[in-house]
Amino acid sequence: MSSHKIIPYEILYEAICTTKDLVEGGPAKDELLVLKSFLKHMKTVIKRYLDNADSGLPVIGHHFAWPTEIFYCFDFVPVVFEGIPYILSALLPEGSERFYDIADSFGHPYHSCTSQKGTLGMVLDGLFEFDVISTPTSPCDNTFATYPVIKQLYDKIKKQKTPFIIADMPYYRDDRSYNYYGKELNRVVSEIGQIIGQEPDYEKLRKAIDVNNKAIEIIAEINEFKKLTPCPIESMFCPLMTAVLAFIPGQPERIGFFKDVLEIAKKRANKGERAHEGEEKIRTVWPYMSIFFDIGFCEWLDREIGATILLDIFNYLFFDVIDTSKSEEHIFKGLAKQSMNYPMVRQSATFCDDLITDFIYLSKEYKADCAIFTAHLGCKQSVSVIQLLREAFRDEIGIPMLSIDLDIGDARFTSIATVKREIENFTKIHDFSKK
Ligand code: SF4
Repeated sequence: MSSHKIIPYEILYEAICTTKDLVEGGPAKDELLVLKSFLKHMKTVIKRYLDNADSGLPVIGHHFAWPTEIFYCFDFVPVVFEGIPYILSALLPEGSERFYDIADSFGHPYHSCTSQKGTLGMVLDGLFEFDVISTPTSPCDNTFATYPVIKQLYDKIKKQKTPFIIADMPYYRDDRSYNYYGKELNRVVSEIGQIIGQEPDYEKLRKAIDVNNKAIEIIAEINEFKKLTPCPIESMFCPLMTAVLAFIPGQPERIGFFKDVLEIAKKRANKGERAHEGEEKIRTVWPYMSIFFDIGFCEWLDREIGATILLDIFNYLFFDVIDTSKSEEHIFKGLAKQSMNYPMVRQSATFCDDLITDFIYLSKEYKADCAIFTAHLGCKQSVSVIQLLREAFRDEIGIPMLSIDLDIGDARFTSIATVKREIENFTKIHDFSKK
């Protein structure tokens, strides 16, 4: 087995180590606790991926919308395409701008989703080596238009034909579809097994699912604590959780991170405290994504505005655990059900009804005062929902929604100063002190 280059993960590892040193050396011992736990666990996991790539394990470049645990049938290295540009946009001073520019200069539409545009730029820059590239036909046209382009360009650069494995995700969320998609996932596993020369080990798959099951239970407990006023968990948990779901599937560090957050929440809740001094003035839900390109933004929101992000689209899991004592057919059907209801997949692969219903429900449950919608430049289908969503919040629960045009992974479209100004103006217009 020859070693593989996954240079963006090397950049990520360095960025994590530097940020960890800064965070641990700077703020007081009991500050930024969730971020500290995140960096600790991510450091271990990314180092493991790099070591495994060095030792020659096959690299699977994949979409975040997979239930990535399915690949834990094998010994492999995961590279999550949508995760890497966004986590670098948070941790590096100039984020992933260089890679977006490479993709733009090549002629890729500037207004496509930066989650994949960044990875396209990295591929054009020759920074990856993959054995397999793989995606479901979900959650969006952007995904399904960009993956074949990435694969073709990668082949051209490497002068090879890289296996490209796709699973067909049906539209309807019903039993027939879950059976169908479960079979698709099983087919993907056998095809990848043949390509990389490994027999699927279903016991390893069961173990990875058990880890995720445990994490799902802990996330549900954390979400219960978020119902408290004040919310005992900092806003930064929301984007960090997105990264943990994407980068740490089926591994003990996933449980480690969520357990740490749960302990932090319990301690603060016992004392009726929030993460920061001062009053919680505004409870917000973010029906789409949090902002990734500025790691300090959530702290500004908590500290300067007294506003908490209770949930964004990635923080509430609308699915159950999988019983791993049952047959493989049952397990794959369970994985199909989970992944078809995975955050963003559930709300973006369907019409807007799920997005609206989910966030009306969550806003009531978590006593939100308002919603803030990140109108992400690349995400055409979600942006088309803004007015419907605004009317639903207003008519059904009487709360206002702010919509901000931006690119959540590229600071150059709308600066963080403009984002902050829009939020300040919104809070002045609505005067949440009278709630
Ligand atoms: S943000 Fe929108 S365009 Fe980007 S991957 Fe998600 S659904 Fe697709």
